[in-house]
Amino acid sequence: MLPVAQPGDDDAPRNDLSIDQGPQGALAADPPLHPTEDFLAELADHSARLESATPKEILAWAVERFAPRFSMATAFGPEGMTIIHMLSEVAPETPIFNLETGYQFKETLELRERVKDRYGIEVEFKYPATTVEEYEAANNGPVYKTDPNRCCFARKLTVLHQAAKGLHAWASAIRRDQSPDRAKAPIVGWDKKFQLVKVSPLANWTKADVWKLILDNDIPYNPLHDQGYPSVGCWPCTRAVQLGEDERAGRWSGFQKTECGLHN
Ligand code: SF4
Repeated sequence: MLPVAQPGDDDAPRNDLSIDQGPQGALAADPPLHPTEDFLAELADHSARLESATPKEILAWAVERFAPRFSMATAFGPEGMTIIHMLSEVAPETPIFNLETGYQFKETLELRERVKDRYGIEVEFKYPATTVEEYEAANNGPVYKTDPNRCCFARKLTVLHQAAKGLHAWASAIRRDQSPDRAKAPIVGWDKKFQLVKVSPLANWTKADVWKLILDNDIPYNPLHDQGYPSVGCWPCTRAVQLGEDERAGRWSGFQKTECGLHN
């Protein structure tokens, strides 16, 4: 039998990265939302229809269909910033949160303040059960150096599972052209890992589309993007990339890892 992750014991070393804390995501919502065959077929229909919609139209549909149980998790990347900008126009009351692992760049934390100043939107920090100091003390040092999967599990995935409880749907900022892992993302689909409807309004957008919207509208963005960091995560696991490298090559450099586990 696989070990069971419990809330609060994320500093305990473990080998498996499974989560079993009872009903998850939309199954824990009031009312619960179940991925029945009919519901999945309905989502597939919406997804096909929304292929030709603009990201803003997709967001407006998601808000209409799922609010107030609709949310967004953001790491304040360029894509996330465009979604925040669009939400400020179509549904500024949408709750938005950030996984504050304790390892984020100061520029990222400052961006949260800039979002508040620009849009009046307060992005909520969601924290792991332990501080960085407690986590590292319990694990004889930084886990990201030896086992980033376990570190991401403890400091991001368990937190996200908790945050997802009770929601029906959330917005993701992924683009299909970002990586092979993301290439098949539907506009609307069922996220098995988090048991939620996942809406990806930018699935059909390119990096150029994202930056055009940012520059045309003076949307705040992380200054690290101007310093050779196309993708910004936690500081220990992010480096600047060289010309010609993949835009996610600077994440978990030196490890066979390209995703934190949220989108794959
Ligand atoms: S990105 Fe790095 S520091 Fe952040 S949670 Fe994952 S392994 Fe830990």
